[in-house]
Amino acid sequence: MLEMAGRMGVLGTETAFEVLARANALAAQGRSIINLGIGQPDFPTPPHIVEAGRKALADGHHGYTPANGIPSLRAAVAVDLWRRHKVEVSPDQVLVVPGGKVTMFFAIMMFGEPGVEILYPNPGFPIYESVIKFSGATPVPVPLHESKGFSFSAEEVLEKITPKTRLLIINSPANPTGGVVPRAELDRLVAGLEKNPHVAVMSDEIYGEILYDGAEHVSLLSYPSIREQVILLDGWSKTYAMTGWRMGYGVWPKALFPHAERLAINCHSCVNAATQWAGIAALEGPREPVERMVKAFAERREVIVAALNSLPGVRCVQPGGAFYAFPNISGTGYSARDLQSELLDKVGVATIAGTSFGAFGEDYLRFSYASSVEAISEAIERIRQLLGNLPRKN
Ligand code: PLP
Repeated sequence: MLEMAGRMGVLGTETAFEVLARANALAAQGRSIINLGIGQPDFPTPPHIVEAGRKALADGHHGYTPANGIPSLRAAVAVDLWRRHKVEVSPDQVLVVPGGKVTMFFAIMMFGEPGVEILYPNPGFPIYESVIKFSGATPVPVPLHESKGFSFSAEEVLEKITPKTRLLIINSPANPTGGVVPRAELDRLVAGLEKNPHVAVMSDEIYGEILYDGAEHVSLLSYPSIREQVILLDGWSKTYAMTGWRMGYGVWPKALFPHAERLAINCHSCVNAATQWAGIAALEGPREPVERMVKAFAERREVIVAALNSLPGVRCVQPGGAFYAFPNISGTGYSARDLQSELLDKVGVATIAGTSFGAFGEDYLRFSYASSVEAISEAIERIRQLLGNLPRKN
């Protein structure tokens, strides 16, 4: 009998991949499936980026690169952070990694061990809680409030900080809610963090360029007083429709950088070279493809939020960013998990139960609207049929 380490028993997963597999299996049986489950843009990577990757392969970029990333890529990241947030970042603090997730894994493993507390958003990206448990640390959920447009309350976060707290994770614009934390709330959080220099903050800003209606994304890097506490997680996956290329980056405080780099050398050596060249083209190329994609998401957001609000027992706040709607379904009489199953099995609509994002996600479903308006409209009509036709539980 092979015996694994005990921590393997507490490693969670991302239900989105399981729902995707089930939706694909049903589609393979000939069922008509509309997939509003998976969180990736339905656009191809813009052609000039693909071309840069192809050219890098043709030009012979086939070997290892520096573990922290190609120097011109790290410099391009620093320029991009200046363009977007007006913050000065040294390229020496940028660690290019194979996907946004890797910065998260490294930050949590760097701080997490038994006896330590790590604060994370709930409902939130499921990998936070999973890796916190894997590290042996105690996950301490920070609730996000529908009534606050799914922001946290800074007071509530700060109340949860104890001498055992080593890391706080925040995510804005957020998965799964689309919530954007307002500047005033961040100001209050930062004022509290200044008084808690033993707490590092990992700010997951991977949806930072996908914003609507003038919603403002404030990077945590733009607060000089806590710069030595902040780890920025960002990347190319969502902004440039590059989920399959596998690349992201972290900006690390100077004192932590060598440790993060050592984790990279132990784990993956470097990101594949051609992808890094494509990443330079993404950052330095035209903004128009990104703007076009965000405009399309904005139109779909209008359609899906209005349609969800027209369903019996469903109410949905306007998300300020990302490409997710997170309606409250408590009025339907179903639990989140039951409604997710019914929707997929009975009417062929893949969504994700809010509980996949933590216990505070009960009463909610996540809809990804990275899908065409036609598909969204058809999905809503199918849901209307189900909610109208099936007996409610109470
Ligand atoms: N952070 C959040 C909040 C996400 O939603 C995702 C992907 O869904 C990631 C990080 C990971 O992105 P990547 O695919 O670049 O690893």
